[in-house]
Amino acid sequence: MMTHDLHFYNSYTRQKEKFESITPGHVGLYVCGPTVSGESHLGHARPYITFDVVQRYLRHLGYKVRYVRNITDAGHFEEEGRDAIDKVNEKAKLEKMEPMEMVHKYTNLFHHGMRLFNNDDPAIEPTATGHIIEQISMIETIIERGYAYEVNGSVYFDVNKYAEGYPYGKLSGRILEDQLETTRELDGQDEKRNKADFALWKKAPPEHLMRWKSPWGEGFPGWHIECSAMSSKYLGEVFDIHGGGMDLQFPHHESEIAQSTIAHGHAPVRYWMHNNMITINGKKMGKSYNNFITLSQLFSGDHPVLEQAYHPMVVRFYILQTHYRSTLDFSNEALQASEKAARRLWEAHELVQKMVHPGNDTAGDPKLDEQVNTWMRECTEFMNDDFNTAKVIANLFELTPVINGIKGGQVKAGALSAATFALLKVTFKVFLEDILGMQALQVAQNNKMDQVLSLLIEIRADAKKRKDFATSDQIRNKLAENGVLLKDEKDGTVSYSIE
Ligand SMILES: [Zn+2]
Repeated sequence: MMTHDLHFYNSYTRQKEKFESITPGHVGLYVCGPTVSGESHLGHARPYITFDVVQRYLRHLGYKVRYVRNITDAGHFEEEGRDAIDKVNEKAKLEKMEPMEMVHKYTNLFHHGMRLFNNDDPAIEPTATGHIIEQISMIETIIERGYAYEVNGSVYFDVNKYAEGYPYGKLSGRILEDQLETTRELDGQDEKRNKADFALWKKAPPEHLMRWKSPWGEGFPGWHIECSAMSSKYLGEVFDIHGGGMDLQFPHHESEIAQSTIAHGHAPVRYWMHNNMITINGKKMGKSYNNFITLSQLFSGDHPVLEQAYHPMVVRFYILQTHYRSTLDFSNEALQASEKAARRLWEAHELVQKMVHPGNDTAGDPKLDEQVNTWMRECTEFMNDDFNTAKVIANLFELTPVINGIKGGQVKAGALSAATFALLKVTFKVFLEDILGMQALQVAQNNKMDQVLSLLIEIRADAKKRKDFATSDQIRNKLAENGVLLKDEKDGTVSYSIE
């Protein structure tokens, strides 16, 4: 048995629950992936970073995690308030590309962004186009059970019939009458028995590029059915955790529940998790609002609202500094503050790993020792309380002045016991690197610069050894003129900072 005290918020029951996996020691996690008809933006970064930390923490607790995140490369409908279109097909026509050419381009870009964020790869990344057979078979089952019907080559899910026996709308908190009132006339509306019905399969018009043979003629699958078909294929008919952005609760996740419940005879998911949105000037960031900043714009600074480029680790840190269920408002000031903060924590981390404890078993400053232990212990408690990364980061900040103080001499080297000091090193390594997934900020951008600087620092050290102070001073002064400050440390190493 796994001994841990992990509790988190289940969006379906609207309360924090203790986590218990269906199969001891194993977790099945499904997260809705990107629709690859365009580049991912900052708003998309949040779920992928949030659930990367979730799977990292579950692994830290000792679970074997099967993390499945799909790629939507066909048939993403906008069912609510907008015309029903196949996003992938439409965008491909616009860009004059083969749909698969476009899908490949944006999938690669997405993967590149995920690597820069240091997100672990999912164990399985299934595509909608690779699972047409599974989707057709699931639709057939739903028709057989009497909860879907075919009209002119398209198949719709019968929401009214489902709502008679099951709590449709429970996840999103919408009642059926509300849904009907807010749904305007959509494409295919004349074919549906009821406005709330959603498409499982759409007949492909002659100009539609992405099309597959089916029992109902040539067409393409609806968006919701892919996640039901692929999650059950790889994680089973009931699995542990389903994650995604809050904006997916309706209609996407509500429809997933309905489809899977009918096809399998029971609800598909034990715990639903949803991250809140990133807003910009108080409005949700999204493609349909035309206020988004793509990941490459964010990393290059090439967008009118950006004052500078932001390192992927700064963006990651900025997202994790807020609890995943709170909204997060974009601003340059917030990202710049995150940049400073991330740098400061990483420096403390590097510093503490290099430091050597004088060896005393008992603490020279018992009060401080106890406080440090409390801050460290709380990091685990915060993660166990609904993955509160914001509070973990706050505690790492409490520990930072202690580390800097020992280095600077304001805190006595033996103030902490050897055991506490060893745990301090482990705490930074485990929480900052392994669980929060942070990396050094310089690596990605200043790699070449680092190498050139190391060479100059070496040449200068050599010159000093030979008492060639003219050369060593020249290197230091020239670098200073260019904003690179060298600092000689007591132990003979040289560090630098860039102004
Ligand atoms: Zn999905």
